[in-house]
Amino acid sequence: MTLVMKFGGTSVGSAQAMRETADLILNARAEWGQVVVVASAMGSKPVKVTDLLLRGAQSALEGEETTYQEVARLLRQVHYEAIDGLLSPEGERQKILAENGKFIERYEALCQAVLALGELTPRALDTISGMGEQMSVRILAAYLRQIGHPAEAVDATELIVTDDNFQSATPLPKLTNAKTQARIRPLLDQGIIPIITGFISATQSGITTTLGRGGSDFSAALVGQALQVDEVWIWTDVDGVMTADPRLVQSARSIPTLSYREVSELAFFGAKVLHPKTMRPCVENNIPLRIKNTFNPAHAGTVIVPDTPNGNGGVKAVTAIDKLSLVTVEGKGMLGVPGIAARTFGAVAKAQVSVLLISQASSEQSICFATPDELADKVIRSLNAEFDEEIHRQDIDRIWAQHSVSIVTVVGAGMRGTPGIAGRVFTALGQQNLNIIAIAQGSSECSISLVVDGQDTAQSVSHIHDLIVA
Ligand code: ADP
Ligand code: ASP
Ligand code: MG
Repeated sequence: MTLVMKFGGTSVGSAQAMRETADLILNARAEWGQVVVVASAMGSKPVKVTDLLLRGAQSALEGEETTYQEVARLLRQVHYEAIDGLLSPEGERQKILAENGKFIERYEALCQAVLALGELTPRALDTISGMGEQMSVRILAAYLRQIGHPAEAVDATELIVTDDNFQSATPLPKLTNAKTQARIRPLLDQGIIPIITGFISATQSGITTTLGRGGSDFSAALVGQALQVDEVWIWTDVDGVMTADPRLVQSARSIPTLSYREVSELAFFGAKVLHPKTMRPCVENNIPLRIKNTFNPAHAGTVIVPDTPNGNGGVKAVTAIDKLSLVTVEGKGMLGVPGIAARTFGAVAKAQVSVLLISQASSEQSICFATPDELADKVIRSLNAEFDEEIHRQDIDRIWAQHSVSIVTVVGAGMRGTPGIAGRVFTALGQQNLNIIAIAQGSSECSISLVVDGQDTAQSVSHIHDLIVA
């Protein structure tokens, strides 16, 4: 039996966390026979290595020299502390110190180049932001070797092949499967534990790409798919998927079982605990997925299954995404005119922006949709160009955006066919004088999304959470 275990930033965030992670790896190996590990960059809050790497590079772009140097100092401190805490001087300490040191030197050199050139391309960002994973896996693998278990750090640039859409690359499944099998199977056959970098990948010509922020969960699913493993477990710092983000709602509880569809909706609408692309490789290959807490391994966490029974009025969890704009195209001349929606979203696509939620009034006099705040102006420019004639003829009166809004989403497969859920949700907000700006129901009927003012996000989430009964 083979198990893929993915460890998030906090699970490898310090020497102590890496020790606990190593225990979990070895216990699982004793039970399952074969274990494949995928790990993130070190991420002990508040120092998250990937954030640091990006912040330094960004500041270099802005012509500033001290921030990336300070970042390099912090990177040395965080990684060297872990190395000192884990590896003995008689063993691989010097070697791993030198390897990590090389990455940090390379980071400084790249930031220097960014500063000199005044340019930071998406391609450079991927090379830079992926270094955290390359450092952490080397430390973890060396520690496992030190305690007597063969392990090898593997850069996923050798395994996951993607297109060249830097910063959010799309994997090419056939090539990825073939490369992953060719590189990882022989290690497993020899009893070696592969410790693979999450997040990073490479184009066919070997240029580093990344799968998007939080993408290590997706890496684990891709590796699981390629090796046709029995299960994928995501180890993080909370007891599985919870009824709400525990940082927003103190009374949030862990959910024992969720369906693929439910967890996909949650992930898509902001529940950061799982990257939204993780589910597809698992669903398509019938690979069960589990989310567990590295710091509380006895807790069962959450199991993701194909279907869940309806229960308890259906609302299982609530989630939110903030910093959005609601763009509206409105005009009396739109009534019944075919093709307006297609042209609207064509113009959005031309601006290379993806839409998170769409809502259309039944009279067809307006269409509105949510996009990230920082992209709203670009979208409006593209819409104005597309509808130039209609605006001139006054068929379209106005294209405008309401900024700083949030989408609050309630999720639960049991909502399907359970009357009154939407009413209860709206009442929960109405009673608190929280205004709903727009509404959309997921096509799967297992989610309802509400757009609210950004300032009302936490309160809305919390009052809807009160509706979730055990
Ligand atoms: P990792 O580094 O392990 O991938 P992340 O920070 O990416 O960890 O994801 C885990 C975090 O997701 C939790 O610490 C929690 O704050 C946040 N989170 C947001 N929504 C939820 C939710 N519904 N259930 C559990 N955690 C959530
Ligand atoms: N380290 C990467 C990030 O912070 C990937 C991950 O943690 O999943 O986005
Ligand atoms: Mg994550």
